Amino acid sequence: MLQSETSFSDPQQKCNMAHSNVWFSRPRTYGKGSRQCRVCAHQAGLIRKWGLDICRQCFRERCKAIGFTKSN
Ligand SMILES: [Zn+2]
Repeated sequence: MLQSETSFSDPQQKCNMAHSNVWFSRPRTYGKGSRQCRVCAHQAGLIRKWGLDICRQCFRERCKAIGFTKSN
């Protein structure tokens, strides 16, 4: 009989393992939530060109401030 199995069946230890799994359940380094507008945190219609990382709504508001014009 193995006597070291008593520590494995400790309920407190299982609880800690479950908590650590839940803690990192939402990684934001990839996927849909990883990129968002730096102004309003919108996640759709992002303009990532030239390192802007803002949505098209905010780009429309700030295009003059950035230096973009609608046309020549
Ligand atoms: Zn925005």
